[in-house]
Parts: sequence; C-alpha cells; structure tokens
Amino acid sequence: MTGSTWSHVTGVLFDADDTLYDTRAAMHVAGAVAAGRLWPSADPDRVAAAGVRFRDDPEGWFAAYTRGELEFDEMRQRRIAEIGRWLEGGETVSPEAFFAIYEPAFHEALQGFDDVRPAVSALQAAGLAVGVLTNSSGDYTTTKLAAAGLDGVFDVICSRDTLGFGKPDARAFHEACRRIGTSPEATLYVGDELHTDPLGAAGAGMPAAWLVRDGHVAEEGRKAVAARGIPVVPGLDEVAKRLGLADAAG
Ligand SMILES: [Mg+2]
Repeated sequence: MTGSTWSHVTGVLFDADDTLYDTRAAMHVAGAVAAGRLWPSADPDRVAAAGVRFRDDPEGWFAAYTRGELEFDEMRQRRIAEIGRWLEGGETVSPEAFFAIYEPAFHEALQGFDDVRPAVSALQAAGLAVGVLTNSSGDYTTTKLAAAGLDGVFDVICSRDTLGFGKPDARAFHEACRRIGTSPEATLYVGDELHTDPLGAAGAGMPAAWLVRDGHVAEEGRKAVAARGIPVVPGLDEVAKRLGLADAAG
C-alpha cells in the first residue's frame, strides 16, 4: 500500500504520546526532578537517568495495563516502586509523593510538536474526520493536550481506560473508528510505536503510517512495515502531503 492508495481515506486517528507531544523528553526531565527530591542520597548518575528508566518501564507494567491486567493508578504505583528499588535498593515512596513533584515538572516540560495544528487543520478543512486513540488514560490525555498547547484541536479522544482495551487489540482501533464515524478500511492510523501503532492498525484492517520523528528506523522495523506497505513518515506534514493536502499543510 502506498500513499496513493490513501485516496479512499475519510478519517485519521492519531496516537498521542510522542506523536502529538514530546512525552519522552518531558518524562526524562520530570523523572529526574522527582528522583532528585525524593531519593536525595541516591547515586546522582542514577537520579539523572531515573526519568529515562521510568519511561522505559523495564518490568513492563505499562504493557500489562494495556492488556487490561491492572488499572492506570496501580500501573504507575508499580513503576514508582521499581524506580525506588533501583535508586536505593528497596526504598520506595507513595505515588502521591512522587506525582506531587513529577506532574508539575512534567507539564512544565511537555511540548507539543509544531506540525500538529497545521496538519489537523488541513485534514479537517478537507472534510476528514479526526480523532485520537491512546493507551494512556482519558483524563490524563486531556491534561497533556492542554499542557502541550493543543487543547481544542481534537473533538474525539479514545483511551484505554474508557474503551476497556488498548492497542494493539483490534477492538480498540475499531471502536475509535466508530466514534469518529468512519470505517476501519477508510481510516488512517498514525503513531510512533511499531507494534502498538502501525502494525496494530494494519492488523485491524486499517491503512497506517509509522511516525519516526528522529529518523532512526531499525532494520527489523523497516522490513516489518515494508512488508505491509506501511510508509515511514518523519512528521505529520508528510501525512497531510500523502493525503493530497500538501498546500494546506505547508
Ligand atoms: Mg506513542
């Protein structure tokens, strides 16, 4: 499938984290700030890397949450406990204490990507339905969109907690399509996580684009998307361009 076969597309669904705003960068900053305050005697190198580790989630709690095995708050609690063990060998803090420091730092650091508003405006001007499908929670996503300066851009936000299942479960994609009023085969999905986003959407019978903003595409990923005709795009302006909306997105 190439860009030209997107001529039948009537809707576009976007992933949120690291697609609409730079979650990774903000987590790195906020995690280091919280770790420095809560574990003041921990190894400074580990404190500086705590946000990266929090994001990487080495014990896989976010994946378990995505599969519906635990709720959002418990998922976060497990991840904080893991950070505490890693920093000070067993010392842990309450989620309340962690997030009292982490959240303001995260929201302060969170930046929306510059190509979101122009691309979404171009899609909407062309009459395409637009929405967000995220594995994060609905309330948190609304908060993140506002912090990133993207409030009011999207009318429909579908999240793992409100749907009851998450990507790459085909039901999540199909329900999000239903909510924006399009069919899966006519709905383009755009996201940055290879297995969750483009491959998940393709598995749900949808056209997809793999967003790789930093341009680093592992060979395995390149082969996996090429086999399914999924293009790799460096930004959302490229998505609009491939939908034939180059001028409007420029
Ligand atoms: Mg993402």
